[in-house]
Amino acid sequence: MKLAIIGPAGSGKGQNTGKIAEKYGLKHVVVGDIVKAEIRNKTEVGKIMYEYTSVGKFVPSDIVMQVLASQLNNIDGFNGYIIDTAPINMDQYSKMDTDDIDAVISLEVKNHDILRTRTLNRLICPNCRKVTSVFDAPDGVCAHCGSTLEHRYDDNLETVNFRIAQYERETVPVLEEFEKSGKLIKINAELSKEQVFDQICNKIDDFFAKKPLK
Ligand SMILES: [Zn+2]
Repeated sequence: MKLAIIGPAGSGKGQNTGKIAEKYGLKHVVVGDIVKAEIRNKTEVGKIMYEYTSVGKFVPSDIVMQVLASQLNNIDGFNGYIIDTAPINMDQYSKMDTDDIDAVISLEVKNHDILRTRTLNRLICPNCRKVTSVFDAPDGVCAHCGSTLEHRYDDNLETVNFRIAQYERETVPVLEEFEKSGKLIKINAELSKEQVFDQICNKIDDFFAKKPLK
């Protein structure tokens, strides 16, 4: 089972992807973490990546996609993978082996006020990186490690609106491509956490019941 999950900030991607990976025995491949790990480990490609990130530039898609591909080829001990989050634009799409992906889960939130509310109330643990919200942790303390939770520095209205517009402009065309090839699994991510996860599992099960696994 080879999946990708795509959704705007505030769609619940972080909350759901780990649970999907666990339930289906998939390797959870976080694209942002791969880049950080290469840089931290000072690999050959990590040094090239650092030349971009150290001056505030994005690492070019072909470099990121090359490293991602090597992660996806190495899934011994797993039933497949789930990519979190790629491809996010047509440039990445064109540089990825999209034929290898069985299905793409699209977390859809049509009401952008929901994205704004969720993102602006998001809290993150500076110690263990768990993400929660002011609703789930009203005392502002991490339930996992007891550290004081923080807002992400860029979770403000201006950046949230920018990210929403960028998603519509750059990521939605990618979803349309996967829809054309019959690989898109659309999820109504406006519902509660429990409802969204149940919906994802039901739709994955339906999708693969109709389509034999590679
Ligand atoms: Zn914590």
